[in-house]
Amino acid sequence: MRAHSGALSGENITVAGSGTDEIPFCRVEITPQAQQAAVRVLASGWVTAGKESCAFERELADWVGAPYAVAVSSCTAALQMALLALRLPPGAPVLTPTLTFCGAVQAIADARLRPVLVDTDIETLTTPADEVAKAAARHGAAAMVIQHMGGYPVDAAELATAAGIPAGNVVEDAAHGLGAAVGGRMVGGDSTAACFSFYATKNLPISEGGAITTTDGDLAERWRRMRLHGMSRDAWQRHGQSASWRYTVQEAGLKANFTDVQAAIGRAQLRCLRQWQQRRAEIAERYDALLAGIPGIAPPPRPATGRHAWHLYIVRIQPSFGMHRDMVADALARAGIGTAVHFIPVHHLPYYRDLVGAENCTELTTADQVFPQLLSLPMHPGLTDSNVARVCEALAGLTR
Ligand SMILES: *Cc1c(COP(=O)(O)O)cnc(C)c1O
Repeated sequence: MRAHSGALSGENITVAGSGTDEIPFCRVEITPQAQQAAVRVLASGWVTAGKESCAFERELADWVGAPYAVAVSSCTAALQMALLALRLPPGAPVLTPTLTFCGAVQAIADARLRPVLVDTDIETLTTPADEVAKAAARHGAAAMVIQHMGGYPVDAAELATAAGIPAGNVVEDAAHGLGAAVGGRMVGGDSTAACFSFYATKNLPISEGGAITTTDGDLAERWRRMRLHGMSRDAWQRHGQSASWRYTVQEAGLKANFTDVQAAIGRAQLRCLRQWQQRRAEIAERYDALLAGIPGIAPPPRPATGRHAWHLYIVRIQPSFGMHRDMVADALARAGIGTAVHFIPVHHLPYYRDLVGAENCTELTTADQVFPQLLSLPMHPGLTDSNVARVCEALAGLTR
């Protein structure tokens, strides 16, 4: 089997077409149409941001029901740009879950802001309103990054109220949230800033890439400049104009633009997304039904309202299961079944512990308690019903 380690999160990703009876944690599907679209753009003579990228932005915005989408190089860059656009004073406190991807906290630091870690809810694995309120009272809050963990939808407005900040100062890390809905609204459909990832393992895999959706046209314009060195017009906008070399720079920017190769892949992949989301929901239902009879395995909860995006299917291996999570993961690996852990709490990582101060990490007790129980089972649209059954049988076999 050919497999490579996920560069960012250590997930075992198996290359499509490999393996026989192995069940990888994730199998990245770039459809033949997407592959052909990439070749078409590579042959066209225009390979960086251009008209494909503009079309992708429109189609992504339509998909989530947002007025604007700005495509960028990664979700991490999107988070940094969304935070920079708030124009907060350097060092201003920004709430973030501790149970999240470490790169999302680096984005806060790179925006020259101060991360304040918030504890987790033991069931949903998202930040509960009471913990948000507690952290805001203790450390202050100028802004907040919320995270739809595993695809479980969180209500930005509710958490903004809990934090005592304006709704516009909530930045959504929607890396897991594409396809989720809060109430009747798609995640990213009515946000000031919802940041998506098109990293290989995410629900819309492109290879790399990200985007911010927003209801604010002025912010969208700012991010279009910010993603390319702050330049007033990119090469595509200058193309074919007279005095096409002319542009201005009024504020600092990043090098975080998208490319037409990514856009071509993304546009083709987007046409499959509804169907892939449907399949993820079916797989989650199968897991729920088959795991229901196994004591000591807590399945992921269903949101009371709205829709789960099922980016991940995270179970908790409780003490009553009689075997530690690490042993379970090893046993499944020996049975040819790939798993992952999302996430190592950020405050367990030495660099971040120092960054936020060890004294500010003593009350993140639910994250400490739940982390050793977390196990992400295989979840991708290519998983068959018999794959799901085999994973559940293997788990049931460990308790006998
Ligand atoms: C993957 C991920 C990111 C980073 O996305 P990139 O596009 O790789 O920058 C951020 N937050 C969470 C929760 C993620 O899972």
